[in-house]
Parts: sequence; structure tokens; C-alpha cells
Amino acid sequence: MTLHLTPTQLHQIQTQAERTYPEECCGLLLGQRDRSGNKLGNKQVCEIYETPNAWTKEATAELALQIPAAQIAQGAKADRYWIDPRDLLKAQRYCRDRGWTVLGIYHSHPDHHAVPSECDRVLAWAEYVYVIVSVQQGKAQDVRGWQLDSAHQFQPEELLITEMDLPGHK
Ligand SMILES: [Zn+2]
Repeated sequence: MTLHLTPTQLHQIQTQAERTYPEECCGLLLGQRDRSGNKLGNKQVCEIYETPNAWTKEATAELALQIPAAQIAQGAKADRYWIDPRDLLKAQRYCRDRGWTVLGIYHSHPDHHAVPSECDRVLAWAEYVYVIVSVQQGKAQDVRGWQLDSAHQFQPEELLITEMDLPGHK
């Protein structure tokens, strides 16, 4: 139930979040699960994979099928993010070459807590861990991890900031 991140990786997420402020930043967490392969087991992030925030009106149309239109209509890059499916595909290929997997998604909350929004919850995938960084007045603060439970509600996921030490990791 723990996501391992190195101090450098954490810093990379925080730096990106400050750079894109007051818009949300986003990206993918690439790495390895422990040998059991259990999605709830330990995970080691090997690389922070930055993606552009592709939130647009076009993304809105796609999302309209999944969440109430009223919620989407209010969305802007200051409180929404969207990862282009083509970027996700590129990352999956990149992972395959390295024996990694896409462990999850990170994004920032400009001037909000590092707690998932209802929009985040509705759009979340059960197999991913979600990392949210709160950015207050341009400065990255709290970073928290989340994962969906079987009722599609977010539960905290422990983040362990440490150098790589997962058994079997090269
Ligand atoms: Zn969010």
C-alpha cells in the first residue's frame, strides 16, 4: 500500500507544479510493482513522466459522457487536467521497453488542498495511484497519495520518500 518516490522525483513534481501555476500540471508515474504484482502492494517510481495539461473544449465533449455537464462547464486549466490519450500510449510503449508499468497519475491543485475533487474521483481508474500536490500562492506544499477502494472512493495511499530500495530493483 506504499508508493516509493525518491527525493529527486518529489522535487521534480513540485518544480513542475510551481512552473505551471496557476494552472494545474499533470504527468505519469512510471515504475515497478513489487514481485507479487499486487496492485495494492509496494510500488517504486522509476521516472516522473511530464505530460502537457491537455484540458480543452474537445476533452470536455469526451468527458460529458462520464460526468454531469454542469461540473465540466465550470472547468478551466486552473482546476482541471487532462492527459492526451496519445501521451499515455507513448508512455506505455516507453515503459514496455524498460520492464516498467504506468503506476499512476500526478497533478497539482493550485490554491487548493491535496485532496481529490469530485471530478478527480469520477474520472479515476482503479488500477492507478493518484498523487496530488497542493500549490499555495505559487509555492508547492503538501503532497499526498490516493487510491480508489472497491466502492470507487479515494483512500489515502502512503508515500514513502526514500532512495530506491525495493527488493529486486536494479
Ligand atoms: Zn484534482
